[in-house]
Amino acid sequence: QFPLGRRLPCDIYWHGVSFHDNNIFSGQVNKFPGMMETVRKITLSRAMRTMKNLFPVEYNFYPQSWILPEELSLFVEEVRTMKDSDPSWKPTFIVKPDGGCQGDGIYLIKDPGDIRLTGSIQSRPAVVQEYICKPLLMDKLKFDIRLYVLLKSLEPLEIYIAKDGLSRFCTEPYQEPTLKNLHQVFMHLTNYSLNIHSGNFIHSDSVNTGSKRTFSSILCRLSSRGADVKKLWSDIISLVIKTIIALTPELKVYYQSDIPAGKPGPTCFQILGFDILLMKNLKPMLLEVNANPSMRIEHEQELSPGVFENVPSPVDEEVKVAVIRDTLRLVDPQKKKRKDTHLSFHTYLLIFPTQFQSLLVGIAGMKDKQHKHHSLKLSLKLKFYLKLGSCQALEQAREGSQEVPEAALPSLCLKQVFPKYAGEFSHLRLVDRVAALFIRFLGVKGTTRLGPTGFRTFIRNCRLSNSNFSMAAVDILYIDITRRWNSVGIEKESGMCLQAFVEAFFCLARRKYKSLPLHEQVLALIEVCECRLAALRRRRLVWGCG
Ligand code: ADP
Repeated sequence: QFPLGRRLPCDIYWHGVSFHDNNIFSGQVNKFPGMMETVRKITLSRAMRTMKNLFPVEYNFYPQSWILPEELSLFVEEVRTMKDSDPSWKPTFIVKPDGGCQGDGIYLIKDPGDIRLTGSIQSRPAVVQEYICKPLLMDKLKFDIRLYVLLKSLEPLEIYIAKDGLSRFCTEPYQEPTLKNLHQVFMHLTNYSLNIHSGNFIHSDSVNTGSKRTFSSILCRLSSRGADVKKLWSDIISLVIKTIIALTPELKVYYQSDIPAGKPGPTCFQILGFDILLMKNLKPMLLEVNANPSMRIEHEQELSPGVFENVPSPVDEEVKVAVIRDTLRLVDPQKKKRKDTHLSFHTYLLIFPTQFQSLLVGIAGMKDKQHKHHSLKLSLKLKFYLKLGSCQALEQAREGSQEVPEAALPSLCLKQVFPKYAGEFSHLRLVDRVAALFIRFLGVKGTTRLGPTGFRTFIRNCRLSNSNFSMAAVDILYIDITRRWNSVGIEKESGMCLQAFVEAFFCLARRKYKSLPLHEQVLALIEVCECRLAALRRRRLVWGCG
């Protein structure tokens, strides 16, 4: 911590909340610019809707959502149409304020007319979502899963998933929603921060009982019931990859704005918290993505009314320590320099003092004698430094080039899923390519909005206007779409945001390739644009040479 400000550059910057710091020119930061904005409930719902429009089957893991207040009448109308076509459909909806967390302000409704318009919905936008009425229960209780995902790099895309996560339980037996039980938060909302206040909350020292358990303990129970947990994992991996694919276009726009290409800057990584609900049929559904998941390894216990004490939570420790440890292992700058898989002695000493025993056990099990000898010598030094515990000793350790062999560390809990499974998902990365076109025409570095001239240049360079689509029509398209997006956006900036550009692009694609399904229309237009821009670049090179 640098209470008085930082002077020297660091290898790794571990920020508490967001990326923002204008003085970082190297190293790695544990936050991406714009991540908080990108995963807000409304922005996430919009990104998921864009992907659902392109790939309805692939993106059916996100509950149908509407944005309030702007889509209130659309919501009312669509629900009425669905009810008319299927009178047996008795839905429930969950209303969640944008930017809210820990269950704050959430309520359930049976009828769209019950949206609470009193209490200025205008000033507090929200998402209303289809409520998943048939969740998988365990011990008659609803629970959700918190999984930790490391976005190690945006370009090229690198994603890791933690092999274990947390399961957070409700504290009242679940019943399907009725008008009578809609308000019972301990039955319907799995938030730890809410359920901890229930008299039924069970703190447990075991990772497979109580109101917070490891996800692996749930998988064990499911497996013993004969469930196909392999398929469940593979569905969860798909959900995570597809969600990140939906988020990357927006993230890339923020990234180039804060860290312009060609200028010195840091690279970024980030640990994200994915909240997932399993349906009765074991289908995982995404609830939300947290940019700043809690990494606390203790919980509050109420000793007497209103008096709380922090006590260690073995479940949190088991899952979260491994996530942070492995994130540091994966982004370890020393690793890059040495190009081998050793973690620096200093790093080891700082993050694993309590795991010293497992290091010794690891060394005892080593087969390679020379390696074992080296490691034993090292472990003795470690013991010495740990006993001494002085800064001087740490410094000495750092200056010497002692290293702890990776083989002696616990195996990685973070599993790489992308690019490992890239082949199965690359066809979904269409909006990424649209975002690349958008970024290319932004012009001024540091901006996230496209001006009218940039949009005109895009149309002209890609040769998209013709006698049926004049430049005047291009201007009208720009003004119409931009004005609408700017009236609903949170930021009151001028210019065309990425989402507006994507809408304009889809509109152009529909106009040009009328008979194809939307994703084919968009792909065809992307290919035309990329091809024409490449040809233009070639021509300019030739002119340049001439
Ligand atoms: P918050 O950020 O306030 O925690 P969430 O979106 O995570 O908001 O919702 C809070 C809780 O509400 C979730 O943990 C889950 O138990 C429940 N929940 C949210 N969305 C749904 C849904 N569509 N269907 C069923 N339960 C939901």
